[in-house]
Amino acid sequence: RRPGDSVGFAIVGLGDYALRQMMPRFDQADRAHISALVSGNPDKLAQVGDAYGVPADARYFYEDFAKIAADDRIDAVYIVLPTAFHADFAIRAFAAGKHVLCEKPMALSSAQCAAMIAAGRRADRKLMIAYRCHFEPYNVMAMRLMRERAVGTVRLIRTEQSYRAGPTTPAQNWRFNRALAGGGPLEDYGLYGVQSALYLSGEMPESISATTFRPDGDPRFTEIFAHVASQWRFPSGAVAQLATSYDSANANLAQVRGTEGTLIMDPATNYSGLNMRIEGSGAVALTPGDPTTQFAGQLNHFTSAIRENTPILTGGEMGLRDLRLVEAIYASARSGQVVKL
Ligand code: NDP
Repeated sequence: RRPGDSVGFAIVGLGDYALRQMMPRFDQADRAHISALVSGNPDKLAQVGDAYGVPADARYFYEDFAKIAADDRIDAVYIVLPTAFHADFAIRAFAAGKHVLCEKPMALSSAQCAAMIAAGRRADRKLMIAYRCHFEPYNVMAMRLMRERAVGTVRLIRTEQSYRAGPTTPAQNWRFNRALAGGGPLEDYGLYGVQSALYLSGEMPESISATTFRPDGDPRFTEIFAHVASQWRFPSGAVAQLATSYDSANANLAQVRGTEGTLIMDPATNYSGLNMRIEGSGAVALTPGDPTTQFAGQLNHFTSAIRENTPILTGGEMGLRDLRLVEAIYASARSGQVVKL
């Protein structure tokens, strides 16, 4: 089933998330299809191209990326590369006249984010950051419940995203390489906590204090931090405490304690198997729907924006906002001072 207005995507980077999560979900979207592949690996291009029925002349190497400009089968590119390459490929995709769906984090710095936004404007093409939780039923319901003051006035938000990484080095795994990933768990997994704190509070912080930790002599952490923790103060007086780690037991928690009760999302932002409840007077378990619809939901949102010019909920400005917060967190940790925003 491919309606006439289906959006053709070039998948840029055939890694774990593209191959195992997103590409198999294109069939569940209303009008998105994979029309091209971009990779550095000829074997993957052949195998994945055959598996998805992508013709040989729609399989590109990174060096040939500019050629996509002449390929009418490609309406949009989906950038699923290590963070360091997001800005460059987004800007080149806009130059080729394509729309851009870009994985999180948007880029390594707020300056790169601003350059991506400007390039999209110049080209008059859409830019969406793949913040899938905005299309995930539990998180969407949580946002609505918080707007409806389901726990009363919000006082304390807590988010934790962690796992314990196995033995690795910056040369072996890009996530541990500062040039490719930035400072570490904050930009990667911890970004879900940053996002949750924002969309559950409905506020922007007015100040941030933060701390980082890097164990001595651990080959995993020669370039990036092992833990990043921050405390945010919101204009309402609410406080958020965020922690993220690549060297702690698994956690994926978002919790909002208000004057009347507590919302607990645990796990909060996984691909599937989410749990959410409200504790307090009359505790309720909330089961709003199948979390795995978030992947197709995200694609549907983007293709509607392309075809009907509907607004993008998770555009470049949101990615830029979040990189500014990441930068404020590191600035506070570096200086030992509270950073006012
Ligand atoms: P992987 O390491 O599994 O894949 C990255 C791919 O990028 C590689 O397979 C490779 O593809 C390509 N690549 C190009 N240059 C390099 C390089 N120098 N080093 C490593 N890879 C390179 O990463 P993920 O799939 O886990 O992550 C990719 C992106 O997706 C990141 O931005 C990440 O943050 C995001 N992500 C988002 C998630 C979400 O839930 N929204 C979950 C997981 C990741 P090839 O061999 O085809 O050239």
